[in-house]
Amino acid sequence: MKVAVVKENAPGERRVALVPETVPKLVKAGAEVLVESGAGEAAWFPDSAYAEAGAVIVTAAELYAKADVVLTVTRPAQKTIPRLRAGQVIVGMLSTLTSPELARDLAARGVTAVSLDGLPRTLSRAQPMDALSSQANVAGYRAVLVAANAYGRFFPLLITAAGTARPAKLLVLGAGVAGLQAIGTARRLGAVVSGYDVRPAAAADVQSVGATFIELTSVGPAVGEGGYARALTQEERAAQQDELAGHIARHDVVITTAQVPGRRPPLLVTEDALKAMNPGSVIVDMGSSALGGNVAGSVTGETVVTDEGVTIIGADNLPATAPTAASSAYSRNISAVLLSMVQDGALAIDLDDEIQAGVVITHDGKVVQPATAALLEPASDGGT
Ligand code: NAD
Repeated sequence: MKVAVVKENAPGERRVALVPETVPKLVKAGAEVLVESGAGEAAWFPDSAYAEAGAVIVTAAELYAKADVVLTVTRPAQKTIPRLRAGQVIVGMLSTLTSPELARDLAARGVTAVSLDGLPRTLSRAQPMDALSSQANVAGYRAVLVAANAYGRFFPLLITAAGTARPAKLLVLGAGVAGLQAIGTARRLGAVVSGYDVRPAAAADVQSVGATFIELTSVGPAVGEGGYARALTQEERAAQQDELAGHIARHDVVITTAQVPGRRPPLLVTEDALKAMNPGSVIVDMGSSALGGNVAGSVTGETVVTDEGVTIIGADNLPATAPTAASSAYSRNISAVLLSMVQDGALAIDLDDEIQAGVVITHDGKVVQPATAALLEPASDGGT
């Protein structure tokens, strides 16, 4: 089995799917590892390190011609799809729930697609494979550093001969994996930190990392499938935005991470809330996306300063800004997924396996993952 590592080509992407440290693990399992020349360069893993670890360095043309399995971090560019051939397997974070047409195109080419974002995350044997968590961890850490960099004051309490600086008050909205990492990081930098989430289970998590949990009186718990948050109703949303505005105004720095699987991120910081913040306040919107984010007026990949002097940073691929750490963790995740699917030195697709039922998106020319397949079905409302 030839397992190949591509050089990522999305703009700003610096991660690589497999780091040299993981190569011997795959070789031991009977794989031959091919690495596209320069694949790890932007994450500080030179070709020579891969070669020393037992991989063969190849050109992109050789890679697509020879590979049985192609490893990637993000979804392949549209122009890459024709390079994949029937029977080949692509493994990565393919985000087919937001781009189901990618699954349709890969199925049409007879390519088997395996996507790490389909993993059933609560299974204990899936923990080492959880790339959503490993990348959210990196993102939560980086979000705090980005905020600290943009903030015009100190995060910690500082007592100096030139006077005393009070610590920054930082609020994290959404206390999942990224939010909890952001809280821990902000605490380590000396900020006074509060956290909020709609899932009641998050209260204990927030407190366990040393922050104060903010409880809203106007919105009850909102837990949906699989322990994730559910989308709020319009009334709940309005009540939440109103009540949060008072808390937001009392903070210097806000980091928002709120997501609901398969939906556009909820708006948590409204224009009115922004107007009530002090000049010099900073917001990092980690929910920022092409559809809009958690913060009114945020733009993905851009920094906007409001008329009232609030800096809003639309986070864009924060894991790629710590490419060495993010790639090392991702490499462990992707190799764990791959090795769980290998039998007698070859990939054995078994859709009855709980993990494979989540991650295998296309196989044998069909979109087999139900959630992605449902998005590709024609609307069944009779066209009305
Ligand atoms: P996510 O990235 O999907 O969302 C981030 C956070 O936003 C979540 O905590 C969510 O509750 C919150 N949120 C959504 N809508 C909100 C709103 N309107 N207001 C405030 N907050 C809102 O979340 P995630 O980090 O991927 O984690 C989601 C869940 O999965 C959590 O329950 C987490 O503990 C769980 N999880 C479990 C495992 C495991 O069992 N091993 C691993 C990872 C995550």
